[in-house]
Amino acid sequence: MAISPETVEEVNRVANVYDVISDYLSLKRQGSVYVALCPFHTEKTPSFVVSPTKNIFKCFGCGISGNAIKFVMEYEKISYFDAVIKLAQKYNIPVKYLDSEKEKLNKGLYVITRMITEFYKENLKKSQIAKDYLKNRGILSRTIEEFELGYCPEDSSLLQKYIQEKNITVEDLEKIGLITKTDNGFKDKFSGRLIFPIKDIKGNIIAFGGRTLDSARQPKYLNSPETVIYKKGNTLYGIYESLEHLKEKQSVVIVEGYMDLISLFQIGIKNVVATLGTAFTKNQAKLLKKYVKEAVLMFDSDEAGKKAVIQ
Ligand code: ZN
Repeated sequence: MAISPETVEEVNRVANVYDVISDYLSLKRQGSVYVALCPFHTEKTPSFVVSPTKNIFKCFGCGISGNAIKFVMEYEKISYFDAVIKLAQKYNIPVKYLDSEKEKLNKGLYVITRMITEFYKENLKKSQIAKDYLKNRGILSRTIEEFELGYCPEDSSLLQKYIQEKNITVEDLEKIGLITKTDNGFKDKFSGRLIFPIKDIKGNIIAFGGRTLDSARQPKYLNSPETVIYKKGNTLYGIYESLEHLKEKQSVVIVEGYMDLISLFQIGIKNVVATLGTAFTKNQAKLLKKYVKEAVLMFDSDEAGKKAVIQ
C-alpha cells in the first residue's frame, strides 16, 4: 500500500534535519551550521554539514546531500516510504495510505448500502405494522435509532423509484445482495421485512438482516448472501456498536440473533455481539480476541450452542 501524498508532505514540513540527524550523529556547532564526521564516507576531519536554516545536510567530501527523509533512508538503508513512516512515528504524524482498487470499489458499495439503509429507515416510520411489532417486542425508539432499524416495504416499486432518484442501478443492488434480477425488473429479497443493517467494525454497512413480520412467511430471518463486502463468519452483528464496551469490559457476551443482542443492549448489557444464526467461527474468535479476554456464550438452541463451544 502506498502512503498518501499528504502524509509525505506533512513529514517534509515537520521533520527538522538537525533534530533528526542529531538522533544519529554527534553534531558540533560551527557558526550558523553544524558539522560531523560523514557517516557515508571515511574521513578524519568533518566535512558533513547540517544547515538548520536551510533544513538540509550536505557532505563536501562525498557530495551526498538532502533533507531529513533522505538522511534516514541512506543511514538506515531503508526505502523512501519506510523512512517517511519512521519519521512520521517520531513526530506523531498519522500515516495515511492510498486506497487500493478493491478498497475504492468497496467504498462505492458502502455509499449504496448507506443510501439503502436510509430508505429502509424512512419506510419504518411509515409502516404501522413494523412499528407495532417493535413496540410489542419492547424495542425503544432510541434503540431503533442506534441500530438504524428499518423496514422494507412490500411494494417494490417504492425501491425502484428510490434508486432512480439516487442514481443507483439494479446491478448495484445485485452487487450488495439485495435483489434477484428478473425479466421484468427485480425481485426484492427483503420485502415486507424488518431490516437490521449489519455493520463492520468501522461502521460500514456490509449487509442486511431481515425478519419477516408475517408469521406465514419463511424463513423467519434472512441475511444478505455473501458479496464482495460481506463474508459470512468473518463479522459479528453489533461489533460496531459494542466495540467501546468490549474494550472497557474486556469480556464479551455472544448471542445468536439480532433481537437477543438488541434486548441485552437495551437493559444495559452492551458488551455483546451476535453470530447471526451461524456457528461461532474461528475468524469471529480472532476478531474478538483483539479486544476481550473472555467470552460468554448465550445460545438458545442446543445445536448452535454446541457447535460454538467446539469451535
Ligand atoms: Zn561524505
